[in-house]
Amino acid sequence: MGQRITATGESGLGDTTLDPGCIFCLILSGKIPATVVRETGRTFAFRDIAPQAPTHVLIIPKTHAYPNAAELAAGDPELAAELLREAGAAAAAEGLAENGYRIVFNTGDHAGQTVYHVHLHLLGGDPLGRFGTPAEQ
Ligand code: 5GP
Ligand code: ZN
Repeated sequence: MGQRITATGESGLGDTTLDPGCIFCLILSGKIPATVVRETGRTFAFRDIAPQAPTHVLIIPKTHAYPNAAELAAGDPELAAELLREAGAAAAAEGLAENGYRIVFNTGDHAGQTVYHVHLHLLGGDPLGRFGTPAEQ
């Protein structure tokens, strides 16, 4: 499971639990570069490497402890709320607040979740298509 790593970022990582096999934990510890959008003591926002909209930001907690939104909300509701607040702040900073944006938490295989470190997708910048359509066979 997780390994305890104390790292120093701009706002610091503090003493948090990271998993050296997780791509997002490697970003948090600075071993993989990412384009930072925002950072707080407990959250980190960066641009998705394969954007699905003109603006596509990922917002993650600085802990590997929660694989999905439901587990995060059950285990640390204040941190779940902070992710949502940060999404709103990032949307405003990216100029998305007026025309709107989408927040997505993929959960599990059928939703296409590939990284099991909870993350919020913030998508916007153009009108978005509908969602929830079955994958093409
Ligand atoms: P999921 O499919 O799990 O909901 O979302 C994972 C997201 O992480 C994908 O949108 C994918 O493009 C993004 N991603 C995967 N690896 C990297 C990386 O190394 N850097 C960045 N910035 N994004 C990544
Ligand atoms: Zn992780």
